[in-house]
Amino acid sequence: MSQVLDGRALSRRLNQEVVRPAVAGLSRPPGLAVVLVGQDPASQVYVKRKTLVAGRVGFLHRQIDLSADTSQEALLACIRDLNEDPVIDGILVQLPLPPHLDGQAVLDTIDPSKDVDGFHAENAGLLAQGRPRFVPCTPLGVMRLLEDAGVELSGSHAVVLGRSDIVGKPMAHLLLQQNATVTICHSRTADLAREVARADVLVAAVGRPNLVPGDWIQEGAAVVDVGINRLEDGSLCGDVHYESAAKRASWITPVPGGVGPMTIAMLMANTLQSARMRLGA
Ligand code: NDP
Repeated sequence: MSQVLDGRALSRRLNQEVVRPAVAGLSRPPGLAVVLVGQDPASQVYVKRKTLVAGRVGFLHRQIDLSADTSQEALLACIRDLNEDPVIDGILVQLPLPPHLDGQAVLDTIDPSKDVDGFHAENAGLLAQGRPRFVPCTPLGVMRLLEDAGVELSGSHAVVLGRSDIVGKPMAHLLLQQNATVTICHSRTADLAREVARADVLVAAVGRPNLVPGDWIQEGAAVVDVGINRLEDGSLCGDVHYESAAKRASWITPVPGGVGPMTIAMLMANTLQSARMRLGA
């Protein structure tokens, strides 16, 4: 039977025992601005959670709600204002944006020293070169979970399902930097089952409910499920079939309660880091 990687418990510990006490020692609270364009219900839930946790750890937090028909120019002007705002250390634009907006141009307008999501090209480049500044929160949270559980990465074979800029690619870089041998799979991978079966560490970030059945998993593997999928009955599930995978894996994350809370905890950690850099603390 596998050990459950409890992201809720670890994130609470990090927020309360690391971030909150560090905030108390600063000359002003770290400031986080969250920009939400439109009224996508899932995005509203994510933004609410982020600002809630920001308040709990003692950050100044500001939510900027823009209408779904906001123009590119108006959004860029909002970001430029936040770039100049001395009490704001972290700027996050909630994705996805409405289709008429150019997401990459928006992310590239964020001051890289306030890019606490780590999506700016400069931060992505620094990570790829092995000298990270702001690392995207979800893959960073996955690394903290694996580290906390004592999963050995050096010399392991890690398989990442998904190659997005926000999860799959940075995840692969982080695993590589810990000396794992990394395979990245995507929608054109010829034999997904064969690749998964070779994984000592599996990170699934696809967005397809129960794509990976338990019998693909190697005995003793560490399984991290980033996927969040809503089923017709309203319940949530990951990309890995949890019950069957848990019988073979040594470690496994639940959905919900695994990677999701860690993503938010890493957003707090990145914003704290940004405030410290700005305050010279
Ligand atoms: P994207 O849609 O940007 O990327 C999905 C990736 O999966 C792509 O690389 C795609 O391949 C690949 N893929 C699609 N179908 C298959 C398949 N059948 N077999 C193998 N690979 C496939 O998604 P994200 O990276 O943004 O997110 C992935 C999942 O993680 C989603 O469920 C999302 O909700 C969740 N998520 C969870 C977070 C959390 O905090 N827990 C945070 C961020 C995301 P290709 O490139 O070829 O199209």
